Amino acid sequence: MELYPVNTVWVPGLPELAYRLGVGRWEGIVMHYTDNANSTAWNERAYMATNYRNAFVHEFIDPNVILQVANPDYLGYGAGSPANQRFIHLELCVAKSQRDFDKSFDMWCQRTAYFLSKRNLPVLPAASDGSGTLWAHADVTRWLGGTTHTDPIAYLSSWGASWRDVVDIVQRHYDLMTGVEEPMLKPEDANKLIDTFLSPLWFFSLSQQDKDEIHRLANELRKASGQAEQ
Ligand SMILES: [Zn+2]
Repeated sequence: MELYPVNTVWVPGLPELAYRLGVGRWEGIVMHYTDNANSTAWNERAYMATNYRNAFVHEFIDPNVILQVANPDYLGYGAGSPANQRFIHLELCVAKSQRDFDKSFDMWCQRTAYFLSKRNLPVLPAASDGSGTLWAHADVTRWLGGTTHTDPIAYLSSWGASWRDVVDIVQRHYDLMTGVEEPMLKPEDANKLIDTFLSPLWFFSLSQQDKDEIHRLANELRKASGQAEQ
């Protein structure tokens, strides 16, 4: 599976404090929305560079780039002390179109899955007893305290997404990363079907409509075998 590229540009001078379990031993992820309608990941980093004494997070994700702005082995100041001592903070930046939202949403979910899988933590939604590895900032406010924000729920719903969608997409990325879901079809078999049957059929098809349909079927085979579409 393809991972989105990450641009590592840590802000210099940040405090380097261990999580409560130790350096590099985060227990889950808090997922945020920046709540800033005009900012990109780079703008957010610039602001953070001069204001980190009040607050800082580990990554900003906009439709164009994933910026890792703080070393995730050390805690951030993203959502009050109880959460900061446990969790990595990932901030989703505003999108201007549905297409951009869908992309940045997927990037943000993939980064969450990545950090959970790196520590062999399961995808477990936060619960009122403080358990769980997957936290919305709003969950922290309700169940851990030390903070009052309710992001990213309203922002997600403004684009037609829910917290349930977050959990599902994080789980999907996690399963792909950890190899739980093997492709249903081997790439060699898919390519054999394409080369032996679909390609000659495409060649002898007379109408564009038939050609398009064969092309679509070939891509379905590629997807089912974990390959990129062509
Ligand atoms: Zn937040």
